Amino acid sequence: MFNMVTLAVAEGEYPAFQSWKDEFSAIAPDLDIIWWEDAQCIPDRVDYLLVWKPAHGAVARFRNLKAILCAGAGVDHLLADPHWPHDVPLVRMGGRETAALMEEYVTWACLSLLRETRTWARQQERRIFHRRLVTRTAATTTVGIMGMGHLGGHVARRLHHFGFKVRGWSRTRREVPGIRSFAGAGELGEFLSQVDILVSLLPNTAQTRDMIDAALLSRLPRGAMLVNAGRGEQVCEVSLLAALDNGHLAGAVLDVFREEPLPMASRLWEHPMVTVTPHAASEASRTEQAAYLAEVIHEIEHGVPPALLYDAGRGY
Ligand code: NDP
Repeated sequence: MFNMVTLAVAEGEYPAFQSWKDEFSAIAPDLDIIWWEDAQCIPDRVDYLLVWKPAHGAVARFRNLKAILCAGAGVDHLLADPHWPHDVPLVRMGGRETAALMEEYVTWACLSLLRETRTWARQQERRIFHRRLVTRTAATTTVGIMGMGHLGGHVARRLHHFGFKVRGWSRTRREVPGIRSFAGAGELGEFLSQVDILVSLLPNTAQTRDMIDAALLSRLPRGAMLVNAGRGEQVCEVSLLAALDNGHLAGAVLDVFREEPLPMASRLWEHPMVTVTPHAASEASRTEQAAYLAEVIHEIEHGVPPALLYDAGRGY
């Protein structure tokens, strides 16, 4: 299937390499897999490099790459490298399992907010058996998704099938059956005005940084809630905390943060209306990731551009 194609693995620490090698060997036995810091690894002979968070400058020594494959869907941290080889195609992580995990995370987060499970967890810690009836259901709840891309589209369809009312907003209009689509800054206000649960699945770019600020939150109906599974940089934490404290927002489930791990001193840890998850919304199994990446290499080797190619013009 692959003729003399070398993939150097620069993801994680060396022990992770063996499991990558095992997975690729099972799926694509003719792919030459090598640890990037191995003495046998000659950078000029490497065709593909698999990375997650390499040290700044470390990728530049691979000068003949056909593509760089990112083990995550967000690539913003890689582009912050001042020595990044911007002329090499950069492919983001995708695949069915990545999408399925995100669909299930957001569905869980929305149901968790509706059923106020943060309150139940706090009560259980103190052995309090107090019941506050919740009569709101998915059918009477509108979820608004910011970022209707690969993941946003999958999540929108899953929530719609689950019974939520779903609307989506992105830069360009994305038509998904059963989902009301909004586009651009001009339609943002109308999009937000009916949202009960706002979900961010935006990439981190110069345009999306601090997008969810006090002004944006004030355009949501009183009592709305937030799920952020995009990137922490999109949310102004001070404004979020103020909106929770003054009752404009009724809850938040946050998976991503400006600083990760979330600093010990952050008020988000203990806020009674905030659920913190450790950037764990969606990371597919190694088997699924290797299958996806082998498919991407196959596409590139056959002159087919992969679907999830980073586009410098768009910034994501
Ligand atoms: P895509 O690139 O497929 O989709 C991005 C979407 O965001 C598109 O709909 C795009 O709209 C929209 N968008 C981008 N910039 C703007 C803007 N300035 N204004 C309005 N809309 C904008 O990305 P994915 O769906 O694959 O992933 C989204 C993000 O999810 C990743 O970048 C990553 O940060 C995060 N993620 C988080 C994970 C976790 O575990 N928490 C796991 C995986 C991903 P358009 O196409 O119209 O430009």
